[in-house]
Amino acid sequence: MAIRVNPGFINALDRFGKENIQLCYQCGDCSAVCPHADEFYRFPRKPIRLLQMGLEKKLETTLEPWLCYYCGDCSDLCPRDANPGDTMMILRRYLTSVYDWTGLSKKFYTSHWWEFGAVLLIGIFIALLFSVFNPHGIVTTLTPDGGVKVNEMFPVGIVNIGAHIMLISIASFLIANIIHMWYLTLLKDKSLKIPFRLYITNLYQIIVHFFTQKQFSKCKDRSYWFFHWILMSGYVLMFALIVGNLKWFQTEKIYSWYEPQRILGYYSTLGLIAGLVFFSWGRIKKIGQKFKFSHLSDWIFIILLFMTTVSGILLHIFRIEGMPVATYYTYIIHMAVLVPMLCVEVPFSKWSHLAYRPFAIYFAEIKKSAMLIGKKNNL
Ligand code: SF4
Ligand code: SF4
Repeated sequence: MAIRVNPGFINALDRFGKENIQLCYQCGDCSAVCPHADEFYRFPRKPIRLLQMGLEKKLETTLEPWLCYYCGDCSDLCPRDANPGDTMMILRRYLTSVYDWTGLSKKFYTSHWWEFGAVLLIGIFIALLFSVFNPHGIVTTLTPDGGVKVNEMFPVGIVNIGAHIMLISIASFLIANIIHMWYLTLLKDKSLKIPFRLYITNLYQIIVHFFTQKQFSKCKDRSYWFFHWILMSGYVLMFALIVGNLKWFQTEKIYSWYEPQRILGYYSTLGLIAGLVFFSWGRIKKIGQKFKFSHLSDWIFIILLFMTTVSGILLHIFRIEGMPVATYYTYIIHMAVLVPMLCVEVPFSKWSHLAYRPFAIYFAEIKKSAMLIGKKNNL
């Protein structure tokens, strides 16, 4: 089979983040120090070699960049300052754009205007939608327990339908892209014979790695794993409450603090705040290798999540304190930030790694088992 070389690939990749990889002389120290590399997945050295050789098509089929958790240990050790950890991050952005059949990921990662424009347009559209299509405008009478009649201003049944349409759209994009990832990384390799049972016996990997991110805890600095996990759990929980269970969550009743709606909402908010403070501070101060380089997409994600969290907290306070005007406008602002964040970030940009990574680990385990079976049969 002919192997095509793209000599311009390394320069084209600069649009996803500036790498330094021509400095690498393949000593292999980075792979030796990485807690996630093994005899089957030798990274970051191997993908860097493919990159140096311009083997673009071969790189599209690799899973290694997803097995890296960007602890930065390899970059600390590299004798050539080639920043191998950052290159893995850049390759993940690139691979996200390869899997995405719409081409939007590529636009968002390589053009600031596209990402800003998409967020702004969707935000304006949502703000207009909520301002125009609400049956009673600002409802100033309060509920018997003194709260704002938020469901009268923004009927939860209708908002819930919109949330479900958004959920189905986001899930469809992500599923299509994951199928593309599966095709590129497993199906395309005709030399790989994968028994179907491996897909079944490894299925649990997706659940375990999505919810625990336990591989991450193998990195030397475990605080990074902890704050990433707490941010992720807060984010996923809030996503499930708002998009999956809004009728239960968007309530006019003022519950006591120990009611499930409040406990879950407070946990999610605390997780988001703890994670946001940790990551924002790390990136502002450039603490360690993992925060040394920030792409615009990293900041857009942090800013949108911060605005969503703050507007969500204010909305809660205004509602239970019986402040209808403030609740009305904060609700619209909250939605005008939340919806574009979910529509842009989840399927096409920064957030998509939460879906791709557990699937990559799942595919990598399947591949490893298939290779071991192949080896055994050839003995
Ligand atoms: S990136 Fe650095 S540590 Fe890794 S192989 Fe190249 S020179 Fe060696
Ligand atoms: S950044 Fe950490 S996890 Fe990623 S390749 Fe380097 S050592 Fe491994």
